[in-house]
Amino acid sequence: MCDGKKNNPSAFPMGNPLPEMFSKYFIGQAYLQPLTDKGGPISNVTFEPGCRNNWHIHHKGGQILIVTGGKGWYQAWGEPARELHPGDVVDIPAEVKHWHGAAADSWFSHLAVEIPAEGGSAEWLEPVDDEMYSNL
Ligand code: MN
Repeated sequence: MCDGKKNNPSAFPMGNPLPEMFSKYFIGQAYLQPLTDKGGPISNVTFEPGCRNNWHIHHKGGQILIVTGGKGWYQAWGEPARELHPGDVVDIPAEVKHWHGAAADSWFSHLAVEIPAEGGSAEWLEPVDDEMYSNL
């Protein structure tokens, strides 16, 4: 695997390739740098071009994405995809099926803020359809 760190699109560290427990739910390579466990845990997530996660649901606690670099996408089920740029904030309510990731031609990074909730969990679902993604 080539070292993608020279491509880091943000001021935060890229960290390491996602552990397998997460990477199996991603298409392409992403990197994870935990930043803090105080309050809701916050991590910096960096996606290589074309990388995105599967459709998934954050149960009980939602998630906030704070875009820190590059260009990417967020899409909630049944809604048009939203193009993301540094400075954008996405408030993802609990129980909303969605995905997020890089644009096909750009590195992308966001802070992922997990909203703490008793019994909170993530449910991972099917990959984002290639044809739909390629038409974004
Ligand atoms: Mn999410």
